Amino acid sequence: MKKMFQASAFALALMSSSAFAQDAIHCSMCEEWNRPATPFNIYGNAWYVGTAGLSAVLVTGPQGHVLIDGALPQSAPLIRRNVETLGFRMQDIKLILNSHPHFDHAGAIAELQRASGATVAASPHAAQVLRDGTPGADDPQYDPKERFHIPKVDKVKEVLDGETLSVGPLRMTVHYTPGHTPGGTTWTWQSCEKGKCMNMVYADSLTAVSTDGFYYSGGDHYPDRSASFRKTIDKVANLKCDILIAAHPSFGDLFGKAAARTADNNSFIDPDGCRKLAASAGRNFDTRLEREREQKAKAIAH
Ligand SMILES: [Zn+2]
Repeated sequence: MKKMFQASAFALALMSSSAFAQDAIHCSMCEEWNRPATPFNIYGNAWYVGTAGLSAVLVTGPQGHVLIDGALPQSAPLIRRNVETLGFRMQDIKLILNSHPHFDHAGAIAELQRASGATVAASPHAAQVLRDGTPGADDPQYDPKERFHIPKVDKVKEVLDGETLSVGPLRMTVHYTPGHTPGGTTWTWQSCEKGKCMNMVYADSLTAVSTDGFYYSGGDHYPDRSASFRKTIDKVANLKCDILIAAHPSFGDLFGKAAARTADNNSFIDPDGCRKLAASAGRNFDTRLEREREQKAKAIAH
C-alpha cells in the first residue's frame, strides 16, 4: 500500500449496486492497479490471475489449487474471471495465502474465500489483521485519522515460519518477511514442466513506506525495526529463486517478461530475480534510514 490512500464514506455511499461496490476502496492508484489483465501461464502449474497492477497467482494441483493474494476488494470479480478463463473452478481453490494484509493485496480475500470455501492461512500477526479487517497501530502505515479497512476474513489458520502447507502434492513454504508490515510473508514452492522443476518465489513487498512521524529506526515509544527489516531483505536475497513474482507485478517486470516469452524461452526464469529485488530494497532502505537520521537530527536541533 502507498500512503495516497483516501477513503471517502461519501464516495462509498455513491457507489452503485454492483456486486462488490459496498467494499470498493478508493485510492489514487486503485483504478490503475485494478485494470483487468489477461491471465497467463508463468511456469508449469503456476498462473498469473491478478490485475494490471496487483499480483495474484494460482498454483494448480490434482487435489485442489492454491491462490496467493487477493488485490483490492473490487478485484474479486476480475480474479474470479481470470481463474475461470483459464479453465479452473473457484471451488477447487483449497488454500488462500497472502503477502501482507494491506487493502491492495488482501482486499478480495474474504470474497474469494466465500466463493471457493478455501482455508485462508497467514502468519499470526497477519491473521489478526485479516480478522480485524484493519491493521493495528504497529503498522508503519497506521494512521488513526485515516485507517483503511478491508472486508474481514472470518477464519484464518495461523502458520509458522518455515512451515510447509500441503494441498494434495502441492507444498507451499512459509517465510516470514516482516518490514513493510509486521506480519508480511513470502511464499515458495516448486513448479515443474516436462520434468524440470523451478524454485518459485512469491515475494512480499520490501518497501519501507510509512505515515509521517514513523521511524523504522525506532521512536520514543517503539523499537528500532531496522535490523529485522535487513534480515528480511537478506532472507529474500538468499531464497532458492528461479522465478520471482512480486506482490506488485511491476517490481519484477512480470508483464515485460510475459511479453518476451517464446515457445522455447521462458523469460520468467531469472535466478538473479530475488537478489535484484533485495538489492534494490536494500538501497532504498539505506536511503530511508539516512533520511530518518537527518529528520531526527533536525528535530533535536529545534
Ligand atoms: Zn502494502
